[in-house]
Amino acid sequence: MLSFYETSALRRALIQPLPSNIQALLRRRINRILEDGLKVATCIFEAAAWHYAVRVECRCRQEGLFEAHGLWWKFERKGWSDDFRDARRRFYCKACSQRYGRKVRPVIIETSNKPPRHCFPLPDEREWRRAVSRFRG
Ligand SMILES: [Zn+2]
Repeated sequence: MLSFYETSALRRALIQPLPSNIQALLRRRINRILEDGLKVATCIFEAAAWHYAVRVECRCRQEGLFEAHGLWWKFERKGWSDDFRDARRRFYCKACSQRYGRKVRPVIIETSNKPPRHCFPLPDEREWRRAVSRFRG
């Protein structure tokens, strides 16, 4: 569940002069978090451990929903940081990238309880257990 401080940080972000479409995205994000009572994951691993999908959303509102265990394993194998702030840079919107001729990154990366639409190969049991014990340690 989102703490009071996290909610107020998101609300403060709304007061700052952001483009109106980004403000609308943030506002919808706050509402969704308050409605669903989702735990707020900060990385792909947490999303997987808590059985959420990972959802990215472009400024054009196109969304991608990824199965989190397979996504985590893909990042792990490539040696990429799965922290949401870093992981955001590994995604891009196909439609916008074609339109603008450069890679357009999502404005939001978060957990979701919608069913995932993109599934990558899963880590084997041993790899996953090793990651879980690293996480707890
Ligand atoms: Zn887009």
